[in-house]
Amino acid sequence: MLSVNNRFALTYAEARRKFQLAADLAGVKTRACKHPMTGPDGEELATDVALLGNPKAKSVLVVTSGVHGPELFCGSGAQVDALLDLDIARYGDVAALLIHAVNPYGTAWLRRTNEDNVDINRNFADFSKPLPVNHGYEELADDFVPRDASEATWKAADARIKSYGDKHGRAALAIAQSGGQYARPDGWFYGGTGPTWSRKTMEAILADYDLRGRKLVAAIDFHTGAGPFGYCEPIYSGDPAHPGRDRLQRWIGPAMTIQREGKAATPPQQGLSSELWEKSCGLHSAYVSFEYGTVPHEEVIDSLRAEHVLHKRGRNDWHDASVQSVKQRLLRAFAPDHDSWREMVVAQSRLLLDRIARGLAAEAR
Ligand SMILES: [Zn+2]
Repeated sequence: MLSVNNRFALTYAEARRKFQLAADLAGVKTRACKHPMTGPDGEELATDVALLGNPKAKSVLVVTSGVHGPELFCGSGAQVDALLDLDIARYGDVAALLIHAVNPYGTAWLRRTNEDNVDINRNFADFSKPLPVNHGYEELADDFVPRDASEATWKAADARIKSYGDKHGRAALAIAQSGGQYARPDGWFYGGTGPTWSRKTMEAILADYDLRGRKLVAAIDFHTGAGPFGYCEPIYSGDPAHPGRDRLQRWIGPAMTIQREGKAATPPQQGLSSELWEKSCGLHSAYVSFEYGTVPHEEVIDSLRAEHVLHKRGRNDWHDASVQSVKQRLLRAFAPDHDSWREMVVAQSRLLLDRIARGLAAEAR
């Protein structure tokens, strides 16, 4: 493979520029859904959309990136590669819709969450109903994100987390930690109190491109931070009874894991993007996340904790050196600056997008 380094970026502005440039080279126009806030250098923030192929195609392959801020750099690289390399016309009546930076604020400011500390991938809950309660999280909330960063506090917090795991098991601890919660706005994996800008923007894009009216829609959502370095685990996180599961299993094969059966790198979670696709496109959709491994799990968690502690303490001076060191550590935990990692991202993305596009083409006939 020729070097694919040039597809990747390490800042929001650079990722956006590369996405727009690749779209120009592919001869497609991008559409910007502008975010009301700006980035640390005053740059405009937006979710950008590019459609490859026939806009009226019967089936659509949707690729989304940057639901979690610093995870954009993986998905953006794969999207830029798709703009340059994916010959969508050869699959027949299939178009590709690339949605770049679902959470542009989180990417620009290096937060996994959005401007209100909301985890977009816990924000697709039904807010008209009572929200799920995460009892394990409630027990450990101040240990996951301690109020101060002193060594003694961290040690005591770690001990309580470990003892919870010893008592209830690793699976229960994983759900307590990252299953999602709706009770503590200054905690982590917080799902919010209503639809965020990112959720509303996704809903508007789905309507604008008439995805409900298509014969079949496959949505691929790029994530990072769980699993071995560079390996992509396709994770099915939606309803196991939804027909999207069988479709994707046929197209992808046994490599795809089922989150709600407890067999994926991530535990069962609440308010996921899968709900958006199941609700908006009904039975003729198939949603899967591509989860790319980065650094060891402990480092992912510790870097995330450090950034949340910073936020909880109101430390938000972007140019402060100690703030920057926490932000850069978070960036490295979700987007390793390694050629080999980027090559693995692109190689597996090409392979899987090809399998899914072929599946869409065969089933839509
Ligand atoms: Zn993610």
